[in-house]
Amino acid sequence: MVVELLEEFVSYPSVSDRPIAPLAECIADHFDHLGFHTEVVADPHQPGKHNVIASAGPMGTDGLILSGHMDVVPTEGQPWTCDPFALTRRGERLIGRGTADMKGFLAAGLAAARLIDRGSLQKELLFILTYDEEVGCLGSAELARRWNPQRRPVPSACVIGEPTGFEVHRMHAGHTALSVEVFGAAAHSSRPDLGHNAIEGAAEAVFRLRALADHLRGTPRGDLPEVERPWVALNAGCIHGGTAVNIVPDHCTLEVGFRPLPGDDEAMLIERISDELRAIDGPWTFKVHRKHGIRPLLTPVGTPLEKLLLRYVGQARSGAAGFATDGGNLAALGTAPLVFGPGRIEVAHRADEWIAEADLHRAVDLLERLIIARCS
Ligand SMILES: [Zn+2]
Repeated sequence: MVVELLEEFVSYPSVSDRPIAPLAECIADHFDHLGFHTEVVADPHQPGKHNVIASAGPMGTDGLILSGHMDVVPTEGQPWTCDPFALTRRGERLIGRGTADMKGFLAAGLAAARLIDRGSLQKELLFILTYDEEVGCLGSAELARRWNPQRRPVPSACVIGEPTGFEVHRMHAGHTALSVEVFGAAAHSSRPDLGHNAIEGAAEAVFRLRALADHLRGTPRGDLPEVERPWVALNAGCIHGGTAVNIVPDHCTLEVGFRPLPGDDEAMLIERISDELRAIDGPWTFKVHRKHGIRPLLTPVGTPLEKLLLRYVGQARSGAAGFATDGGNLAALGTAPLVFGPGRIEVAHRADEWIAEADLHRAVDLLERLIIARCS
């Protein structure tokens, strides 16, 4: 059953730059048939972008959230040896885009929900399925903006089923995208003395930010032993400037990303970057815009969900995920997410992404146990 569900989900090419609506409707139909109270929540600003909320058991009681994203990353330019949107079996591997990240978890969650007697649920079982996680957790951010936790409290236990190979993680860094505009003054290229070259200003900014990145790397946090690289990573990722080779450019844009650690203050980091740019000695002005941000996740040690999951998988303590998830945004609803799911992150986003069939079945078993433990 779980393999058929995965096959169905993989057949929707739900790449983040396309509408998620067809897959969202398909998943919502499945939950409807199971008797869940199901809502497809459209993003008012982006046509075709939907979150799916499906609830069973008494609403507002402290059961369990299972959450995953429905979108996948593109396949163009990757050396796939089969159709990425048709599930292919090779030995024990089930190959297809999203099998690991993270339609395998969605299929396992739905399969586990089918095994549960809905009438026996004493506490709420809530599925939160999001869009555009892969391009900045946009669906969960929209959900968090509109959700009123006072009016609609959610269970305190939440599993974000990203592919961790069944390892339990309780924290991860966030990711903030900035755009830095550099303003100079245009001139004919025969008289550069009459202008201020904005590309040169951007170059100064790149070196300045590089020095800041090195400084941050040299001052790691001592209070996060779980995090492998406990400093704020900072990267200048894109640069756009100029219109013609014979014009001194008056405008240039730098795209800069940084990864705040759990507990870091994003606003303070943005201020620090702005201070560095203001300190540049030159004729340019710099404007920093925050484009979007994924919040870091920090769930305290010792939640009941953590104890259950660690016991199920025989892990001593939970760790830190090396990637950002919807968890930071969902924490704003008043829940305490843990990142835990089948499949391996090493094969995600790559050609011939796969999940082991045995892991899929194990996920169904674990989720069924978890639902019973939390909700009945
Ligand atoms: Zn993912």
